[in-house]
Amino acid sequence: MRAALALLGLAAAGCTPAEVAAPDVAPTALDRLREQAPHARWHYDVLVDDNLETLTIEAMLERTEATRLGVDRPGGYFVDDVEVMVGRNWRSVPDNDGVFDVTACSSRCRLRYRFALAAAADRIRDAEVADRSGQAVLSPPSAWLLRPGDDDAPFTFAVRGAGFISGVWPDPTVPGAYGGDSGHLWRSPYSAFGGFTKESLTVGESTIDVAFLPGEHEVARAEALGWIEASAKTVAAYFGRYPVPRVLVLVAPTSGARIHGRQIGGGGVSIILTLGAEAGPIQFAHDWVAVHEMIHLAVPAMPRRNLWLTEGLATYLEPLARARRGEIAVERVWRDMVEGMDHGLPEAGDAGLDNTPTWGRIYWGGALFALIADLEIRKRTDGRKSLDDGLRAVVAAGGNNGVFWSMDRFVAVVDQATETDVLASMVARWANEPVPVDLQRLWADLGVRSQGDSIVFDDDAPLAAQRLALTAP
Ligand SMILES: [Zn+2]
Repeated sequence: MRAALALLGLAAAGCTPAEVAAPDVAPTALDRLREQAPHARWHYDVLVDDNLETLTIEAMLERTEATRLGVDRPGGYFVDDVEVMVGRNWRSVPDNDGVFDVTACSSRCRLRYRFALAAAADRIRDAEVADRSGQAVLSPPSAWLLRPGDDDAPFTFAVRGAGFISGVWPDPTVPGAYGGDSGHLWRSPYSAFGGFTKESLTVGESTIDVAFLPGEHEVARAEALGWIEASAKTVAAYFGRYPVPRVLVLVAPTSGARIHGRQIGGGGVSIILTLGAEAGPIQFAHDWVAVHEMIHLAVPAMPRRNLWLTEGLATYLEPLARARRGEIAVERVWRDMVEGMDHGLPEAGDAGLDNTPTWGRIYWGGALFALIADLEIRKRTDGRKSLDDGLRAVVAAGGNNGVFWSMDRFVAVVDQATETDVLASMVARWANEPVPVDLQRLWADLGVRSQGDSIVFDDDAPLAAQRLALTAP
């Protein structure tokens, strides 16, 4: 492989000998980064000014196989002044609607350009490309690292000049730098520039970097941190360990007592928790959001049509994980399932979970799939195995939300661990056709009955043992 790439590099260099000469100047920050991270083929030195107005980026791309460079849309409209070094001179590259064709990049090109960070944040207002939280700017590297869209390479970037933190995996050899495989550079994990306050929590072998973003409101930091740590321990207890080595949790303050979460992975993992300034110990103690988002970290990134699997697993597992730790009552788990699962049933015209992207089918349809799968695994193995074993095997095999897996790979790992074909046979049907479930019968079999606002249990029901095992400490 290495020989083939070297040949490609030689062949390309032969076409453009004059354009690959290194500049005869003192080493720059970019040169030092290249020395420190020789494992990367694409290096970026990013300088941000104190006012977070502009990123000034210098890059060296080596052995790329495509020469059309761009960033995530609509970030390309904020990329300005792209120049390529030819001999010892910078030469301007024409802007073709946010795409830049640089022939020299097929062998080795040194680039410099600017990204109008503040303007992008004010205009785009989307944390997956560029947005603001108080004085801080949220913008992931996929929005401003110019790269060929049709080629993958190991890359490294470092940010200087102002505070910066990213959910992208840290570079293994350069402290403070980040990197990975550029195949993940699309809507990459949340990242923030500016005056945040960082705290690091350790859970087992994992690090949870919590960055409190500035804003008009002030969140109760100690309580929020306690809640995030407790949630992390609950998730670690379910999976046997925290599912990723490192995660960035951004905390964005807002008004009221609202608690809301979002999560994005691929090339790293990140969570944004929007916390109301009035949220205190009582809200945190009863809130499920952090556990739900952290369960997502254990499931590999998959195509959009499979969203029901990751949301369904998080919806199903979050109350079980919390009940096992005594954080919520077992009655509450079943009351919420009885109320919620109705939303997950297929309606007229349903085309299976892969093809019915409604709220009810994605969250509760996926949760119903997970419950039925878990019960089926427990039945077929006489309680020796469960969905827990399958998901722990995924994490043990390096599966997490920082990497892309196909549904088939995920299913194979789970089924192998449970010594069944439960997931494969269920996915084959549930993904592509409406699968009705008689919920009244299911609750009766489990020994779960609504009585007014409360739930009563029948421990003589045929599946009572499985039901008790789901929430057993
Ligand atoms: Zn979710």
